[in-house]
Amino acid sequence: MKKLIVLLTLFCVILASCEKKEPEGYTASINAMDTVAFVRVYDEKYAAFADECTELMLQLEAELSVTLTGSRVYHLNKNGSVPSTEHLKAITGYALELKDKTFGAFDPCIYPLVRLWGFTEENDKKRVPSEDEIIETLKKASESKLYIKNDNLYISNGGAVDFGGIAKGYAAKLMLEILKENGVDAALIDLGGNIQTVGSKSDGTPWNIAIKNPVEDGYTCYLSLGETAVVTSGSDVRYFIGDDGKKYHHIIDPKTGYPSDAGIISVTVIHEDAAIADGLSTAFFVLGIEKSLEIAEHYGAEVVVIENEIISITKGLQDKFTLDESAKDKYNLKVLD
Ligand code: ADP
Ligand code: MG
Repeated sequence: MKKLIVLLTLFCVILASCEKKEPEGYTASINAMDTVAFVRVYDEKYAAFADECTELMLQLEAELSVTLTGSRVYHLNKNGSVPSTEHLKAITGYALELKDKTFGAFDPCIYPLVRLWGFTEENDKKRVPSEDEIIETLKKASESKLYIKNDNLYISNGGAVDFGGIAKGYAAKLMLEILKENGVDAALIDLGGNIQTVGSKSDGTPWNIAIKNPVEDGYTCYLSLGETAVVTSGSDVRYFIGDDGKKYHHIIDPKTGYPSDAGIISVTVIHEDAAIADGLSTAFFVLGIEKSLEIAEHYGAEVVVIENEIISITKGLQDKFTLDESAKDKYNLKVLD
């Protein structure tokens, strides 16, 4: 089942260009961070740097995983503190900034709730907790504080940290740096729903990125973009059906302790910094469209939101956006002001 979910994640967002005949190149792939990741360089001479990227993903997982018993985050959650590292400092900086800028919708201290619902390998028994359990766990999560002091990372009040809402974005950002520093001028990083384009295609045309239809096979729309991160969060990949027949997905509203319920099926964020795009896509899924727009504007991010019958896009995407034929009957297109 896990494999299937991983595969579904993998195909969540793909490049439409992949459907055409590929030019020569090299693809490194790795199974890490609960997904299958691909780094494709379009010139084989850069193969070693693609491999460097996937190795980095493994290293990051070994530091950031909540479930690997040797990881720094595992120790942090067990002992309340851990010696920091360059990556831990950087990702904590991102996480705390995003928590602040998203009115707490992105919350790295969410792990007690993620664990309670069973959205982790540590407690892979997904279930709807009782109201009392949620109230108690919510209190614990909301009262805990993540901070850095004297080169140590701390989580207070018996809380627990989860960088899962930002880790792949952070990894993609570092991969972009590796590839750029080494002169790679055309590459594609696909970390299961987290896409980073690198440079431009050899024929000079923009990258063409397809966003999956979240409720059935196929795609809803295509984005024509330069070098950027494109990150999707949705309720369609990681979820379970409760005994009550309802669907419960893996993004938790830190204010209620329940999976968020803002009416969004999937939200895609386009931003030059993959870590920001990743954090924002998780937060926007919790916040709903209106509040998300203010934040998107602050960051200069563009957004595609899919609801039941509406696809909303920010203004900056108007001339970069094409609706798929199959989606034209089902969705109304709305441009957000
Ligand atoms: P995915 O990891 O499926 O690509 P996201 O980037 O949206 O999707 O991250 C979801 C993960 O983030 C969850 O599996 C969980 O580990 C964590 N998470 C859940 N709710 C929140 C939240 N409100 N803030 C920060 N992280 C969250
Ligand atoms: Mg995210």
